Amino acid sequence: MIEYYDNLYCGSRDEFFGFITARAEKGEKTFVVTANPETFMHGSRNPEFDKLLRDEKTVITADGIGVVKAAKWANKEPNGRVTGVETVSELLRFGSEKGLSVYFYGAKPEVLEKLKEQIDKNYPGLKIVGMRDGYNNKDEEVFADMKEKAPDLCFVALGIPRQEILIYKNLPDFQRGIFIGIGGSLDVLSGTKKRAPKLFIKLNCEWLYRIMCEPKRIGRFYNNNVKFFKCIKKEAKKRNEKN
Ligand code: UDP
Repeated sequence: MIEYYDNLYCGSRDEFFGFITARAEKGEKTFVVTANPETFMHGSRNPEFDKLLRDEKTVITADGIGVVKAAKWANKEPNGRVTGVETVSELLRFGSEKGLSVYFYGAKPEVLEKLKEQIDKNYPGLKIVGMRDGYNNKDEEVFADMKEKAPDLCFVALGIPRQEILIYKNLPDFQRGIFIGIGGSLDVLSGTKKRAPKLFIKLNCEWLYRIMCEPKRIGRFYNNNVKFFKCIKKEAKKRNEKN
């Protein structure tokens, strides 16, 4: 798991936004994984996920504070978090300014309806070339359509690990485009779900807010976060003993 840090973007949020928007404008194919401890734990359990996190072309950002905090064991110093929801907002803003095309796959039909309204209002320059919900559509059919449309920006909101595995499997068939698995970001951007209050974000306690709103997440949180720190420390120790 510690090797995933080799692909971690360690610059600041604004530097990352500069990097990713430049790639979007040039049409350079890029796969971004916005990671929290759960993401890395999926890698440790699932060989397909492990492969995509290790691929040197994959760009990983530290979405969760746990990934930032544990970076010291991998001898990395990320300059704060770069969250998925902020990255999507920035790409939508930039895409609207430059008239880029965008494809959305995932979330509930009613969430996409609201999202469309938000986009028409706030990002009128964007060209929406595809919008398919994640409940009535078939992955293969949607990706075939996506390939035909060849969008500049491609957001897949189906939850982890399905979204990342699906993107990675199809990536070789695309010549260009920015691809990101964005979990529940469309729920937030459409106004359906609220992001944590600013104070929680500032104190890096967004995870706590999510648990408070959805207590059933606590088991998932424990399983992933506590184990993540234990595993990373262990791997770092092993690595140091070897060297
Ligand atoms: N989702 C979907 N189809 C499914 C399961 C989930 O489109 O079969 C969507 C769901 O509506 C939500 C997103 O995937 O918008 C996952 O959100 P969650 O907050 O669970 O994401 P994560 O915690 O994985 O980032």
